[in-house]
Amino acid sequence: MDDLSYILNQLGEHREDYLNAVAPPLFQSSNFAFPDVATMRTELQRELEVPFYTRGYNPTVAILRSKLAALDGAEDALVFSSGTAAIAAAIMSVVKAGDHVVCVQKPYSWTNKLLNKYLVQYGVTTTMADGTDTAQISAAINEQTKLIYLESPNSITFELQDLEAVARLAKEKGITTICDNSYCTPLLQQPIRMGIDMTVQSATKYLNGHSDVVAGVVCGSKERIMRMFNAEFMTLGAIISPHDAWMMLRGLRTLPLRMERSAASAFELAKRLEGHPAVATVYHPFLPGHPQHELAKRQMKSGSGLLSIALKSERVEDTETFCNNLHHFLLATSWGGYESLVYPLCVLSESPNYASPVLRLNLVRLYVGLEDVDALWEDLKAALDKIA
Ligand code: PLP
Repeated sequence: MDDLSYILNQLGEHREDYLNAVAPPLFQSSNFAFPDVATMRTELQRELEVPFYTRGYNPTVAILRSKLAALDGAEDALVFSSGTAAIAAAIMSVVKAGDHVVCVQKPYSWTNKLLNKYLVQYGVTTTMADGTDTAQISAAINEQTKLIYLESPNSITFELQDLEAVARLAKEKGITTICDNSYCTPLLQQPIRMGIDMTVQSATKYLNGHSDVVAGVVCGSKERIMRMFNAEFMTLGAIISPHDAWMMLRGLRTLPLRMERSAASAFELAKRLEGHPAVATVYHPFLPGHPQHELAKRQMKSGSGLLSIALKSERVEDTETFCNNLHHFLLATSWGGYESLVYPLCVLSESPNYASPVLRLNLVRLYVGLEDVDALWEDLKAALDKIA
C-alpha cells in the first residue's frame, strides 16, 4: 500500500487553501456560484471533479473520495449514503435486462434481496453459487453472465472466496467482478490488487468507526467510476452528506489503530471461546479449525473484529439468556464501531425481510470493540456459564 500515514493524514488535503486549518473545513453548501456564464458552462463539463452542485461534487466529500480510493489501491471512488446504496449502484452499473449474475451464497441480506427479488423485475437473473469452491462459481456461469459478485469473508459465518482465482476466471471470460470488502477493509485485504474490478464497502462499519454515520463506498477504475457517476450515482442520487463525509474523515484518521485493536481482541476471544463448554463452534477465519484457514492466511492480513459462535444448546431460551446477561456487549446490529456488540441470529426468525432458512438459530455473532479484552472475556464467560 502507498504510505498509509500519508493517505490518512495528507492525501487530498490542501490546507493552504483554507487558512492552514489542520482539520478540513466542512463545506455545508448545496451549490457553488460562478463569476460568469462562460466559466459556469466550462465547469459543468466536469461535474465530478469541480464544485458545481453537491450531488455531484463537494470539496469535503472529495477529500474523502481520494483517501478511500488510495486505501483500496484504486484509481477512484464514489461515496454513497449507505453501503447498500453503494452495492446497488455498483451492481446496476454492470447489468442490464437479459444479463445474468453469479453471486456467492449467503451475501449480505439486502444484496440478496436486490439480486433475487428486485432486479428480477428488470430482467436480470442470478445464480447463487458456493463461493468456497471456484469450480462451482465457474459452473454457474452462462452465456449471459456479466457479473460475479463476491463477499469475502461474509459477515456471519466467514466463508471466503479465492479472489485471485475468481478474478482470473472472470477475466478469461470477460466478466466483471465486484467484492464486498466490508469485513476486512483495505487494511486487511485488497481485492483490487488481486485482480477484482470493483470493491464495495459499508463505510458505516470500520471506515467511519464510531457508530454515528451510515455510508458506503465503491472503488474501481476511473473509467468505471465515471460511468457509474453519469448513470447510477447522479440518477439515483444516494449521496453522502458533506457533514457525514466530514465525520468519516475524522473517523478514518484512527482506522489502523482501531482495526488492530479490534482484530487482536476478537482473535483472542475466539481462542478463549473455543474452550468454553457452552460453545459448540467458533467461527473465525484465522482459527486453525476454519475450513479455509490457509486461504485466509494467503489473502488476508488477519481476521477483523467479528466472530460468531454456535451455542451447544439449540434452545432459543438459552441464546436469549446468554445475550440478555451480557453487559459490555450491546444487543445491536451492525459492527465496526468502538463498542462491542452481540447479534443473535434468532432475532431474524420472524422478520419478513430477514428470515433465512440457511442460518441456524443458535448462532450468535459478536463484534469486538475497543474495550479491555479481559473485561470482555469475563462478561462472555459469566453469561455463557449461565447456560453451560
Ligand atoms: N455489506 C455487509 C457485509 C454488511 O454487513 C452491510 C450492513 O450491515 C452492508 C453491506 C450494508 O451496509 P449499510 O448498512 O451501510 O447499508
